[in-house]
Amino acid sequence: MFYSSISATQTALAAGEVTTVQLVERYLASIGDQRYLNIYVEVFADEALQQAKEQDGRRRAGARLGRLAGIVLSIKDVICYVGHGVSAGSAMLEDFVSPYTATALQRLLDEDAIIIGRTNCDEFAMGSGNENSHYGPTRNAADPARVPGGSSGGAAVSVQARTCLMAVGSSTGGSVRQPASFCGLYGFKPTYGRISRYGLIAYGSSFDQLGLLAHDPTDIALGLEIMAGADNYDATAPNRPVPAYTRAESEGSKRIAYFPDVLNSKKLDGSIRKATEDALQEFRDAGHTVEPVTFDYFDYVVPTYYVLTTAEASSNLSRYDGMRYGYRSPNAATLEETYKQSRSEGFGTEVQRRILLGTFVLSSGYYDAFYGKAQRARRVIQEQLRGILADYDFILMPVSPSQPWPVGEQTDDPVANYLADIYTVLANLAGLPAIAIPTGNAEGSHLPVGYQLMADLWEEEALLAFTRRIKK
Ligand code: GLN
Repeated sequence: MFYSSISATQTALAAGEVTTVQLVERYLASIGDQRYLNIYVEVFADEALQQAKEQDGRRRAGARLGRLAGIVLSIKDVICYVGHGVSAGSAMLEDFVSPYTATALQRLLDEDAIIIGRTNCDEFAMGSGNENSHYGPTRNAADPARVPGGSSGGAAVSVQARTCLMAVGSSTGGSVRQPASFCGLYGFKPTYGRISRYGLIAYGSSFDQLGLLAHDPTDIALGLEIMAGADNYDATAPNRPVPAYTRAESEGSKRIAYFPDVLNSKKLDGSIRKATEDALQEFRDAGHTVEPVTFDYFDYVVPTYYVLTTAEASSNLSRYDGMRYGYRSPNAATLEETYKQSRSEGFGTEVQRRILLGTFVLSSGYYDAFYGKAQRARRVIQEQLRGILADYDFILMPVSPSQPWPVGEQTDDPVANYLADIYTVLANLAGLPAIAIPTGNAEGSHLPVGYQLMADLWEEEALLAFTRRIKK
């Protein structure tokens, strides 16, 4: 039997209903039984058991235990953990071992979190279905013929399939909310800068944030409370006080905005439209103010995101040159051949496509037309969203326009695939916090659905408190 929250787990541990070792053994057995889902790139079985044993000893001795004692987590394969492999789902880093630990992960470890393994993901977090991984696709536990979403697909299924309690993922444009929604979980991305990015393998540095996937928003609140805050190794994580997210209460009637254009879009799946409309109706019935608003720039959202993130990716990924670390082609004879062949053999198709796109939009002569313009568009998008959020507490919208698709059936048309990111990339473009909220299975279907709520910068306290308040 598995517990569905941190507090339920810790109550059982304190009552002696279960030991930490037994808990870890159950999760390891669950991993073993569900290998076909391809959730993990690597399982840290011996180490997790060792940590569990050590914690049980401390518990028996009445010694201090951290706030995450007995809590089993997975980490996405883009998070550095000293002495452990980290590959970003790429052949480029298949044999790479982290020389240090990500700040946010260290904070979780300091509270006695037990890390059970690193989860599969799209290569360098580029993708929405976990099909771009060097290790093959992860499968959705609700329907193994379908994708779990991406890029944190393994993270989502690790929680969905009960192989750990909570997962640490990362979001550049939706990689936490979209897989969470495809797998029936809460998935949260904080304000840009709330959590240090030190030790997170870079994709688009002005977008990247760590996030959490769980069954229970209170667990996410605690995880955030521990991970958030300033870090001398990340200048974009400011010295702002970290609220006690787990204690924040949400009261009174809230003002919730939605975009009718989104609900009327022909591209929106019917059951997702229904889940979104039902949520709006429930909020009206509960006495909240629910009002339509307009956003003028939907047509520019996906192009802006893909110009800026590919530009940043082309720069970030230039470090994988076959010389310093990562894959080096054995077939190269000269320095230039080493660069070319290592990168051609080490990176997959999607990553290469994005490096080429990013190099193009940054090249002289095109820089102003593409990169400069996209930066201005990003500012305009952020200003309009923040204008709405000056009048409303939250914006409610779908997470994805489509349901999880069958593995292998994503189209070969990258533009069509990119367009499906439209509702999630908004929060990343504007740096806003957002959370995917599951609402159960779609009517008459075995596939989960949900919606998302977005809040103004640094309003994760209100966002998480409201999410906890409305949890059924
Ligand atoms: N699907 C989006 C992309 O491919 C978002 C990925 C992410 O958030 N890491 O860029």
